[in-house]
Amino acid sequence: MMINIKNIKGTKDLLPNETINWRQIENIIHHFMEVHGYSEIRTPVFENTKLFHRGIGENTDIVSKEMYSWTDRGGDSLTLRPELTAPVVRSYIQHKMGKSRPLNRLYYIDSLFRRERPQKGRLRQFHQFGIEAIGSPFPEQDAEVITMAYKIYETFGIKDLSVRINSIGSPEIRTPYLKKLRDALTVKNINLCNTCQKRINKNALRLFDCKKISCQKILDNNAPLIFDFINKNDRLHFEKVVSILKQMQIPYKHDPKLVRGLDYYTHTTFEITSSELGAQDALCGGGRYDKLVENLGGDPTPAVGFAAGIERLFIALGKETNPHPPPGNIYFITLGEEATQKGFVISEKIREKHGLSVINETLQRSMKAQMREANRLKVQYVIILGDNEIKKDLAIVKNMDSGQQEEVSLKKLPNHFMIDSL
Ligand code: AMP
Repeated sequence: MMINIKNIKGTKDLLPNETINWRQIENIIHHFMEVHGYSEIRTPVFENTKLFHRGIGENTDIVSKEMYSWTDRGGDSLTLRPELTAPVVRSYIQHKMGKSRPLNRLYYIDSLFRRERPQKGRLRQFHQFGIEAIGSPFPEQDAEVITMAYKIYETFGIKDLSVRINSIGSPEIRTPYLKKLRDALTVKNINLCNTCQKRINKNALRLFDCKKISCQKILDNNAPLIFDFINKNDRLHFEKVVSILKQMQIPYKHDPKLVRGLDYYTHTTFEITSSELGAQDALCGGGRYDKLVENLGGDPTPAVGFAAGIERLFIALGKETNPHPPPGNIYFITLGEEATQKGFVISEKIREKHGLSVINETLQRSMKAQMREANRLKVQYVIILGDNEIKKDLAIVKNMDSGQQEEVSLKKLPNHFMIDSL
């Protein structure tokens, strides 16, 4: 019987010519985070489902229809993480990180899972990098987070960035605002789409995320804006954030319709988009979430962060694949069993002594075929060891750039590359 098993829709294999680029990007992210004083955190791929219900909110799209959840044999409901903020905060609380220092600057690079409709820039398993700064209630922290999000895209050389920022104020203003919003949209002759009709009662802030032009028009003409409801202190906080962004020369736009529909956001919300992305144009989004630590059972602790999609970053960079393998240092050409075994032992010594890459032959190919392989790998040197050389207790070392070759005794071979600076 023929079997034909493929990867699951909305997931992606990263092949060797792509992992090279991924590692480069990951290295840049690690370095960028470290020079800003952020430390990496890694949490498990699955968590108790309750974490996301409590953390993200029951009426969000993510929790109501996009989670991969199952009942474990012990009867617990478990879920593949659909985002990383709630897991990081769970870990922060569990390990009492707030007790050891007043501000924890954390970052992550990890995969996550959402059962969305797959399309360009929208997968079911995808990757994000992000930061969570837990402990500071002050606008400087919001500004640091937004500046970092912008600067990392600049580091990657991405142009056409647009930064939109808003404030949805403190939690107290939410209930009176939502009442006004519902009242304004439940009058006669207003025809929102079916999804938005449902959102009015369940998660009215998300109305602003609707992509339908007809809904956006209705909102423009009828909906009060949350920014007009925020209190004096909220406004002061917002003004300080934007004044720092101005000093840092971050070209932001105030967008009073930017609300980001997750339950945990308070005060600042922001999003960075790129015109190079097409329909799914969001590179990264974030904001302040002063209530989340408390909602998940920790001491009340303010926090702010962002999450950025790595697959989208690659689309914006316009380079998904790198056709060239990384250049190796040495290909060890061996002919015959004895030579191959000797080659293995010597290669290990060269790696240990010099940290160079040495690639061994395991296909028993001809000299010509091995040379072709060495060229494909763009190595700097080949070592040739055949029966003749073994008899003379030496090997031939060929410099692939200059074409020069020399004979080196097998005893001296492990040290040879120390003298010869690569
Ligand atoms: P969110 O966690 O929904 O705020 O998303 C943060 C970022 O993750 C977005 O701006 C995108 O860059 C990326 N992202 C979100 N959903 C997906 C997805 N289904 N596939 C790929 N990237 C995504």
